[in-house]
Amino acid sequence: MQIHKLTCKKKFDQHFLKDQNIAKKIVSFLSFENYNTVVEIGPGLGILTKYLLNNPYHHIFLIEIDKELISFLKKNFSISKNQIIHKDFLKWNPEEMNLRNFAIIGNFPYKISSQILFHILKYNHYIPECIGMFQKEVAKRITSYKGKKTYGILSVLVQTFYDVKYLFTVKEKVFFPIPNVQSAVISLKRKKNMIYCNKKMLFKCVKIAFNQRRKKLKNSLQEFNHIPNFYKIPFLNKRAEELSVKEFLQLTKEIEIKK
Ligand code: SAH
Repeated sequence: MQIHKLTCKKKFDQHFLKDQNIAKKIVSFLSFENYNTVVEIGPGLGILTKYLLNNPYHHIFLIEIDKELISFLKKNFSISKNQIIHKDFLKWNPEEMNLRNFAIIGNFPYKISSQILFHILKYNHYIPECIGMFQKEVAKRITSYKGKKTYGILSVLVQTFYDVKYLFTVKEKVFFPIPNVQSAVISLKRKKNMIYCNKKMLFKCVKIAFNQRRKKLKNSLQEFNHIPNFYKIPFLNKRAEELSVKEFLQLTKEIEIKK
């Protein structure tokens, strides 16, 4: 499939947004509260980039995996070479560029949306905000809460670090080529008062618990049964889907302290 004489590459999950109003609207959700640097993931043909570059006081960086699109962006946008990074976002380390406070924006490649989120969570201490377009079903999972079917690993882990908001749904027909799923834009704003807990342990507990979501936690978390007074840990009689984000943090803390 050809667009602007470029080939749309399936392997890079390319679905280009065509609607200028939606692009403008997505960018308008960036708050620029306490940051002035934005990293765009997968700029493609630059529909969001155009609006990001409107303000000369903002620092914009683009991370794009497709070499052909890199040349296109360099030709079509007045942006310096070192702001356009030819790289797989999942392999990008902001410290290498000395970036320590920046927002993320993007109409993300859907096949790797979970990995993108995990990469953002890895560097959450540098990322105060993220405005992103995901496959609608993934956006629903990220913004879900206890008791809902869609509540799971992504909901708990993202909401540990960020306040999340489902912003709006986007129809298939505004993309080229048309994807076979609907999309949605969400915002993540880093929590101001985060409860401290061991990140590695939290990820481990949440993953184990939801991988056997029907089981009570005292059964799914059996690998911690050597901990003194294991059965006194709160919430063990509940199932993963019955625990709020805050309760997951409490649970992890208990396991961590007693370990
Ligand atoms: N933002 C553009 C393009 C969205 S399509 C728009 O809204 O029109 C997804 C984009 O992500 C494509 O440009 C694709 O080449 C790029 N991409 C895919 N995998 C990537 C990765 N691992 N790292 C960086 N960019 C990636």
